[in-house]
Amino acid sequence: MPTLVKFLSKINIEASIALDEPMAQHTSFHIGGPADALVAPESEGALVRLVAAAREEGISLFFLGAGANLLVSDSGIRGIVVDLRQLASARIEAPASPPRGEGFQLVAGAGSRLSELCERALAWGLSGLENFYAMPGSLGGSLFMNARCYEVEMADLVMSVTILDPRGEVRDLPLRREDWSYKRSPFQSGESEGGALILAARLAVKKAGDREIGATMRMRLADREAKGHFRLPSAGSVFKNDRTLGKPSGAILDGLGMRGTRIGDALVSPWHANIFVNAGRATASDMLCLIDLAKDRVFRELGVDLEPEVRLVGER
Ligand SMILES: Cc1cc2nc3c(=O)[nH]c(=O)nc-3n(C[C@H](O)[C@H](O)[C@H](O)COP(=O)(O)OP(=O)(O)OC[C@H]3O[C@@H](n4cnc5c(N)ncnc54)[C@H](O)[C@@H]3O)c2cc1C
Repeated sequence: MPTLVKFLSKINIEASIALDEPMAQHTSFHIGGPADALVAPESEGALVRLVAAAREEGISLFFLGAGANLLVSDSGIRGIVVDLRQLASARIEAPASPPRGEGFQLVAGAGSRLSELCERALAWGLSGLENFYAMPGSLGGSLFMNARCYEVEMADLVMSVTILDPRGEVRDLPLRREDWSYKRSPFQSGESEGGALILAARLAVKKAGDREIGATMRMRLADREAKGHFRLPSAGSVFKNDRTLGKPSGAILDGLGMRGTRIGDALVSPWHANIFVNAGRATASDMLCLIDLAKDRVFRELGVDLEPEVRLVGER
């Protein structure tokens, strides 16, 4: 910790810095112990300098989007959590004479919240993103996860991603569709957290009527509200679907009567068996025990090994 404080006092970048910052305040689960430091750079330049300097000093880094898919341990995260929320620019690019209805690109910073991008796209009359409306998450985190809503996944939209690679180079990666699959992106392989940092992305969008775009957005929000997504803090679905089973993980857990199972304040939601919620003051260890319990039960009774979608991070 003294090395980290010294590093932060010396590094001359525009950023807000908080020491010993409870991660519970930065995750949708409202769970998680302290990060040694949470640093939110104000610009891409400041971010690139921070990452380069920390790597030189051997300080570990964790890249935080909106924290909507994380279970952070009770001991928290050692090193620096880099909060990307200020990288939220967005602009539209269009070729000189696009064919009608085609050819527009939305270029946005990794920290942009998807719902905010949807609202901007609506204002510009651009369609493509609206199925992601009301899904909590940033653009960077959603690319990392290859988030998927209503049969559309991020890989369907992305044209290229600008990254800061682990060697410190800023490069554009054009989409190679074969590197992406159900809830998997190339960023998850090899070094994940602390590996390639997504800075921005270029998404394909097209001109459409704002009434239709707005109607889809309202429908998606209403559906999530009706399914209880926002009733209590959660990280959305806990387990990925195993597509060979022909049944979503929620239905499998439901079939085993898991709704309402509780450990401490960690609860399998009574309204959706694949959404586990923090019903009060759940700890990460409560939630982990509940995840393990569900996983063991499914394996014992059905021989199916469910894969968590929620990312378990921090010191154990
Ligand atoms: C109520 C609710 C509903 C949800 N519904 C859905 C749904 O329908 N579909 C779905 O797919 N998910 C859903 N989720 C999960 C979550 O919204 C998505 O996984 C989202 O894409 C996570 O984005 P994030 O910015 O919060 O990422 P975080 O949780 O902050 O991070 C996730 C991972 O991405 C990495 N990361 C984040 N930003 C960057 C970056 N710039 N560069 C490199 N790595 C980075 C992090 O290090 C971490 O490993 C839901 C969650 C909630 C709470």
